Amino acid sequence: LARTPVQQLSPYVPGKPVEELARELDLNPADIIKLASNENPLGPSPKVLEAIEKALPELTRYPDGNGFALKQALAAHYGLDMAQITLGNGSNDVLELVAKAWLEPGHNAVFSQYAFAVYPIATLAAGAECREVPAKDHGHDLDAMLAAIDADTRVVFIANPNNPTGTWFDISALEAFLDAVPEQVLVVLDEAYIEYASGSELPNGVKYLSRYPNLIVSRTFSKAYGLAALRVGYALSSPRVAEVLNRVRQPFNVNSLALAAACAALEDEDYLFRSRLANDQGMEQLETGLEALGLEWIASKGNFIAVRFGPDAAAINQALLEKGVIVRPVAGYGMPEYLRVSIGTHEENARFLGVLKQVLVNDA
Ligand code: PMP
Repeated sequence: LARTPVQQLSPYVPGKPVEELARELDLNPADIIKLASNENPLGPSPKVLEAIEKALPELTRYPDGNGFALKQALAAHYGLDMAQITLGNGSNDVLELVAKAWLEPGHNAVFSQYAFAVYPIATLAAGAECREVPAKDHGHDLDAMLAAIDADTRVVFIANPNNPTGTWFDISALEAFLDAVPEQVLVVLDEAYIEYASGSELPNGVKYLSRYPNLIVSRTFSKAYGLAALRVGYALSSPRVAEVLNRVRQPFNVNSLALAAACAALEDEDYLFRSRLANDQGMEQLETGLEALGLEWIASKGNFIAVRFGPDAAAINQALLEKGVIVRPVAGYGMPEYLRVSIGTHEENARFLGVLKQVLVNDA
């Protein structure tokens, strides 16, 4: 038998792969659209493809286990020291490294209801207890989260914007929270979607690192940089915290192609700009379409939107699947009346709205 906390776990359920649905329904994969995993619909940057091609002849060699070039580029990008950066195999890896280094039986981690599914997985896998705090209007209730911290709390996970709700908190809420959290509690500020929200009232976690030595900001190349397949994320923290994370990291946790690609992606500011623009336009397109269908959704600063379908959500999801449209049920997050829809290309969004309209008419 696995360890007791692991027995309580169920595996992370990803968005249904296109090929799987194609097999199940005998559809042509080209006729299926997937708006289920918050992926970037632009496709990879041509500069990234070039960098990967250049790195290919080195496939027989181990990657640079310290990720020197990428850390150097990130340090310059953020005005930080390289010693403040920990690279991860996706930002999921970073979350797990934190749990592995700081949590053990008897400890707890605090996070919100409707928080990202990897927080409880990482916490329970480390043998620690989950303190899930009820959300407020689907978003983090930071005051209630503060109140949930006790002597056994070692880590708090907060996501801004949050997945799957898309909710966010502003600068003053974050500052008040960080001021009040006891020093010995690490705050993991998960900013997987922050690039979509820049220029808004959302705080940039990087700015707070010098003020709060217990802060870890986690970011990823999977979303706005469009590199989900390659698995590259990183933690920004104090050098002391980074040194601890580095102790529990797998020696070569980020592969060579991913390292090369991430360096190229970071330089391609034009791609990032286009990602944001496409996301803003796609969000508007979806919101306009959903409103026309009389639907409600949770306002989102991510590249996805949680739409309320009521008790028929599961049936509507099934009907969408049968028409080749994959979105994400979030019943596993305790939101059985919602489906989460990632922002796609203009054509994908239009197809989703068209199919949804058909499904709703049939359902009525
Ligand atoms: N944090 C949040 C809030 C997420 O939604 C995701 C991706 N679904 C991740 C972290 C992890 O992303 P990745 O491992 O691809 O960096």
